[in-house]
Amino acid sequence: MSPTPGSEAVCSAKGCRARATSALLWNNPRLHEDSRRKVWLACEDHVGSLGDFLGLRGFLRSTVPVEQIPEGAG
Ligand SMILES: [Zn+2]
Repeated sequence: MSPTPGSEAVCSAKGCRARATSALLWNNPRLHEDSRRKVWLACEDHVGSLGDFLGLRGFLRSTVPVEQIPEGAG
């Protein structure tokens, strides 16, 4: 799932339709080039739980505001 420019970003958590305020940038070294960044969008309620999920697996690289998602990520 990648954000579409011009449309409102919605949280990636299952069943959540809240507006996303943060973007979790992650990479699974078994699947992705080291420079690749996958993006999960998160609302304020879910940035912690989604971040923990990725962090526990060692996938989380950084968390940024949705306005600062790097070009090419997704
Ligand atoms: Zn949410």
